[in-house]
Amino acid sequence: MNLPLKDPTLLKNRAFIDGEWVAGSATFSVLNPATGELLASVADLGASHTELAITAAGLALRSWRARPAKERSQLLRRWYDLIMANQEDLALIMTAEQGKVLAESRGEIAYGASFIEWFAEEAKRIYGDVIPGSADRRQIVVKQAVGVVAAITPWNFPSAMITRKAGPALAAGCAVVIKPAAETPLSALALAELADRAGIPRGLVNVVTGTDARAIGQALTDSPVVRKLTFTGSTPVGKQLLQQSAATVKKVSMELGGNAPIIVFDDADLDQAVAGALESKYRNAGQTCICVNRVLVQDSIYDAFIAKFVAAAARLSLGDGLLESTTLGPLVSARSANDVHDMVQDAVSSGATVALGGERAEELGECFYRPTVLTDVTQDMRVFREEIFGPVAPIFRFQDEAEAIDMANDTEFGLASYIYTRDIGRAWRVSEGVEYGMVGVNEVAITSEIIPFGGMKESGMGREGSKYGIDDYIETKYICMGGLQA
Ligand code: NAP
Repeated sequence: MNLPLKDPTLLKNRAFIDGEWVAGSATFSVLNPATGELLASVADLGASHTELAITAAGLALRSWRARPAKERSQLLRRWYDLIMANQEDLALIMTAEQGKVLAESRGEIAYGASFIEWFAEEAKRIYGDVIPGSADRRQIVVKQAVGVVAAITPWNFPSAMITRKAGPALAAGCAVVIKPAAETPLSALALAELADRAGIPRGLVNVVTGTDARAIGQALTDSPVVRKLTFTGSTPVGKQLLQQSAATVKKVSMELGGNAPIIVFDDADLDQAVAGALESKYRNAGQTCICVNRVLVQDSIYDAFIAKFVAAAARLSLGDGLLESTTLGPLVSARSANDVHDMVQDAVSSGATVALGGERAEELGECFYRPTVLTDVTQDMRVFREEIFGPVAPIFRFQDEAEAIDMANDTEFGLASYIYTRDIGRAWRVSEGVEYGMVGVNEVAITSEIIPFGGMKESGMGREGSKYGIDDYIETKYICMGGLQA
């Protein structure tokens, strides 16, 4: 498939290790989910190439962490500028390999780049402390780069999940070995090309592509050189990587699955709540970790909410994300479309009513699923308990504030949650009562580089972005300087 790129050299099919483009002996296919067309045959590497990347990162790290923070900052800033200068091409590559609509891809490129910009600035502000003590000693705290960082990332945000990790890692003085998802390696490789053009020294940014995630992951977690693992993906894989990281006691950050509730109280602005639920539910065809997963609506406005929500969801335009008219793209794979349909069938067989959709859009292709709304749903259904990761909105009913909080918290996940109310006291009570790392009150567009993104419970540990985001990439070292009295 020929993408209309201004700069076709951004489309890479080799891995990037120690500043070289590496082919390996096998390849895997990257397909466009909207059309099934082959986009690229990409280097299929495994454990031995991962070890080469780790060695390169370990060597590159030595001079990088010793460089003045201002120089690291300037190089990161150059990388940011290049990403933004190539925003349109990067968005095309992303939509082609992942499926999300072009407007969302443009948004993700800018969102992802903002982490590089932010941490370019933060690089200069990694302060230590001097702790007051006795006359003959000084107690000093310095912050140092943690070392080589392994970053394993998912397909649903092929660019931003990488920059959210590489930005703070490089700012702190670390080197990174990135393993992107096998569905979406092209966005990762384009980012590596731009890092290279920005002048970021060889060995600091490595991208190992491959389909044997288990082997690559094992090489990363087994290595004593890798001092930190940062992972974004599903909770089961996160748990496995946590176990694997225990053997070498690595620092870990985990950005895992979600099961976001949106709680709509009867005092909410109904149109605002419907618009918020719709925007969050159907973004990226429902494939984000902070997408609304469960819509909880107060009994007295339940029917009115459903009428407006179904009418709005029915206006979504399902199609190829590369067409500007499309507002809902395909799912990432046919397997995903099947999984989503299984979950809908589970609900229907237990008594749910399909108010909209409820089926694949086979006339468009095998990855397309119609925007779907389910009513008469209950807490024992899979759509309540599991991450749906598709364009399906189950709408549940609650009676009062206490029940809403209980329903929201009735899950092992705790990433994002949303509340719609105009009662300021209720907004505070419910915000503090829900067990989630992030709460949007009358707002669903809650993320940016300036806020701490992350979850509680089995949604993970650590925070990305904001002034807190650098903490996961630095060690705190205490130095006691004694014998100062003459
Ligand atoms: P996934 O299956 O867990 O895969 C994520 C990454 O892990 C991919 O690069 C995958 O490689 C790799 N992987 C899979 N098995 C592995 C193993 N045994 N060892 C090492 N690496 C392994 O998740 P996904 O389906 O791509 O992404 C969707 C999930 O990510 C959802 O649960 C979503 O909620 C979560 N997510 C969370 C956040 C957050 O910030 N909390 C953000 C975005 C997404 P392959 O692709 O090669 O299999």
